[in-house]
Amino acid sequence: MEYISTRGKVGKIGFIDAFMMGLADDGGLLVPSEIPQISADNLKKWQDLSYQELVLEIFSYYTNNEIPQEDLKAMVEASYSTFRDPEVTPVRRFGDDLYLLELFHGPTFAFKDIALQFIGNFYSYVAEKQGKKIHILGATSGDTGASAIQGVKGKEGIKICILFPTGKVSKVQELQMTTVQDDNVLNLSVDGNFDDCQGMIKELFADLDFKSANHLAAINSINFVRILAQTVYYFYSYFQVSKANGGNLGKVNFSVPTGNFGDIFAGYLAKRMGLPVGKLILATNENNILERFIEEGVYMPGDFRITYSPSMDIQVASNFERYLYYVLGEDAEEVSRLMAQFKSEGEISISPDALKLVQSEFAAHGVDGQECLDTISKFKTEHDYLLDPHSACGVAAVYECAEEGEISISLATAHPAKFDEAIRLTGIEQSFPPEIAALFEKPQRQVLVDGKLEDVVAQLEKFYNA
Ligand SMILES: *Cc1c(COP(=O)(O)O)cnc(C)c1O
Repeated sequence: MEYISTRGKVGKIGFIDAFMMGLADDGGLLVPSEIPQISADNLKKWQDLSYQELVLEIFSYYTNNEIPQEDLKAMVEASYSTFRDPEVTPVRRFGDDLYLLELFHGPTFAFKDIALQFIGNFYSYVAEKQGKKIHILGATSGDTGASAIQGVKGKEGIKICILFPTGKVSKVQELQMTTVQDDNVLNLSVDGNFDDCQGMIKELFADLDFKSANHLAAINSINFVRILAQTVYYFYSYFQVSKANGGNLGKVNFSVPTGNFGDIFAGYLAKRMGLPVGKLILATNENNILERFIEEGVYMPGDFRITYSPSMDIQVASNFERYLYYVLGEDAEEVSRLMAQFKSEGEISISPDALKLVQSEFAAHGVDGQECLDTISKFKTEHDYLLDPHSACGVAAVYECAEEGEISISLATAHPAKFDEAIRLTGIEQSFPPEIAALFEKPQRQVLVDGKLEDVVAQLEKFYNA
């Protein structure tokens, strides 16, 4: 398996090179040169594998044999040993046709840990094997930063800098990032929103001289390895639900709380690999650019809104380009043309035929604030289960988009303790897990910067070269 760019000017490169490149050098995103097809036989054989075993099976289609099996196995074991649930991503049943896939049992209580625990170990591995310096640079709407920092704090040969929007992440998210005391961690609190942070990161990664001089490495979902690690739980949860239904399950819907389109793109990839996925239900909040794309075929950012689900407060979804590549029949020239148009005009649209294809694969629902809170309250009353505001968007979208009799798996992307600001508005009082309660006692480390690129660059050069 090799990797190419959605804009056609990179490749073919290997797995480790694709991991290290992050953003493709031509400004596009890396994708596998072809999507591997999983046979029905293998799908059957995989039903009883543990989560870790399944990771190894799925990765074997993508790693190009570049990592000795025992090394990969050791990394996978280490990455998921930090999870609080032995199943890593357990599934819970609610009634006949709704399942929640709990993705928040890792160190920072959000789904980002599933890929980033592995990626932290993988960077460490490459740093050691190739004697490379690795300087991670990432932007976060809250969860990626916390998770990436947990994945690499204190690790030899690695430094990490995270940009987050000042005052636009939850208190617990901020504490998870800023209370880490290791010297290889720098938190930049940026006066702006997530799109500003992500825009600066993409600009710095696209400056190839700066990227190589500073040994930049990516942990955002522009990195294909994040997507790959996230495909695993689509398979794993499908198998659990299938077994709960006597082993003969047909298609299942997945509902995915969406911001950057990374997680739902992993679901799309799982489907293209052969997993029997029905509808991919795209759940958003009021920042609903993607809902409008799926309904109208027009991709155009609206005004940025602050919501109860801050990790989804994103207008420009970086993984959207990966999907666009497939919708346009893997036509890299057309992708390049549209992305250039998006840059100059701030808006693109696709043909009616392409839109039909999109609508055959996705349904979408934008959940407003009141609906989000109502869903949390209703689910608590009916099932005695507390959803976090992101997971509540996923469940609300199932209520809206799934047909009678269809089975849906809704992704629970975070633990409610991370978003108590929203939970309190429902009048529900929760108690914090001890790991989260302990954060409030710790001192914070962060540097405030205004939204100017040159100030961020100055901080980075000082930190990476120290
Ligand atoms: C990151 C995040 C999302 C959105 O995931 P994308 O891959 O960016 O679409 C949803 N919920 C939570 C809790 C998150 O942290």
